Amino acid sequence: MIETQKALAFVRNSLQEAEQYQHACHVLNYDLETICPPKGMEEQGEVNAFLSNQAFKIVKSSRFIKEEEYLYEHRNELEPLDQLMAQALHRDYLRSKNITPAFNKKISLIFNKSFVDWVNAKQASDYSLFAPSLKKVRDVDLKIISLRDQKYALPYDALVDEYERGMTCADLDKFFNACKETLIPLLKKITASDKKIRTDFLSRKVPLERQKAFSDYLLKLIGFDFTRGAITTTEHPFTDGLGRNDARVTTHYYENNFISNLFTVIHEGGHALFEQNQPGEDYDHFIHDNISYGMHESISRFYENRLARSRSFISFLYPKIQEFFGDIFADVSEEEMYEGINAVEPSLIRTEADELTYTFHIIIRYEMEKLIINEKAPINKLPKLWNQKYEEYLGIKPKTAKEGILQDVHWSSGFGYFTTYAIGNAYNAMYLNKMKEELDVEKLLSIGNFAPIDSWMKEHVFATANRLPPKEWIKGITGREFTPDDFLTYLVDKYSALYNLK
Ligand code: ZN
Repeated sequence: MIETQKALAFVRNSLQEAEQYQHACHVLNYDLETICPPKGMEEQGEVNAFLSNQAFKIVKSSRFIKEEEYLYEHRNELEPLDQLMAQALHRDYLRSKNITPAFNKKISLIFNKSFVDWVNAKQASDYSLFAPSLKKVRDVDLKIISLRDQKYALPYDALVDEYERGMTCADLDKFFNACKETLIPLLKKITASDKKIRTDFLSRKVPLERQKAFSDYLLKLIGFDFTRGAITTTEHPFTDGLGRNDARVTTHYYENNFISNLFTVIHEGGHALFEQNQPGEDYDHFIHDNISYGMHESISRFYENRLARSRSFISFLYPKIQEFFGDIFADVSEEEMYEGINAVEPSLIRTEADELTYTFHIIIRYEMEKLIINEKAPINKLPKLWNQKYEEYLGIKPKTAKEGILQDVHWSSGFGYFTTYAIGNAYNAMYLNKMKEELDVEKLLSIGNFAPIDSWMKEHVFATANRLPPKEWIKGITGREFTPDDFLTYLVDKYSALYNLK
């Protein structure tokens, strides 16, 4: 008992120390992706790699591992949240026990260089500037997988498990096959429909200053706490929880595409709401990062798609849009605004896609990643494969690498992330149906009252997110096993109504 308490004290102190380095890494990374000048990036990346390795050394020291493994073996003597911490540390230990500090530093350097190369390649729309780094990232991912004690049926399974604990390629194949079965015919019907949706106003010029003011308004509206968070701009928007009182949101403004920022801000704001409202005890017990990526994405996409793109919310937002941008959209009706925002149009850029075609962007990346990781597809053939898949699923073909394979930052630091976006859509469809049994969600959205929705999320969705693996978590909230059905039914209903489909 005393030994266990001693081990606990040592582990907690070490984690506290490692967290200071990690905090600094997050700040540097935030800087790197927001205002760091291009020529400062490489050095910034090196400092980041150095600090990250300091944290790594603390939690990989033989003393730390001895103590945390002792805790894991004696976890029954710990209180429940410390038990979860011990389990998470044990999982981490197994995942990286064969990774040396030197190899870890090499990984950081590869990822940092690869990020810089990606930025330059995208800017020049030249895949050859990124390809050598991409190959290194792929090889390092395969190396990391091969170093694991745990053996998987397929190498890609290890990556799936990393982002969505307990899931496999088999689960995802089943999930995406169900999506294809419903969405391919639905998209065909929509493209064949003669419903005309007005979208001309979506590309009207909206001055950046007005968009900025609107961003602040939207974040406040959904419940973002500006005393514990901030917003700035970046090339590829993301959110970073720097600490329990500091959630950083980023966005990207396009003068000719105001809805891009509108939905980016609400999406990233959704991520930040979790960071700001997860249980404080989760921080105290170092389990505040236990949430899976799919669960995190379910929350951001819940606010972005299920709430903000809904008819009820647009009826609330329409007068606000007129207020902020009045002279620009004076000739657009509320119904036209709703329809325009939700129009389905196969397009090349994932982040600008509508809710329906979005899933195809993920299916394409999922199939590409399986080829890259499981089949070791040649790196120089990837742009061609990418373009073929866009033609197959969406009937369009990128003309440049920038609007094709170079559009996303993700592959500069590894593979396996994209599928979490699609899984997230399925989770939130399930918990929204549950929420609707208890709250009049449509009514609340139509008056712009997010407080009861946020409270429900905090109580049901956030409370257990760090404490349960994904499959148990969604079952705990909804009482049901994970299924794509709610998500697919929602899409069919929404778009059948919008396009007057039979
Ligand atoms: Zn996200």
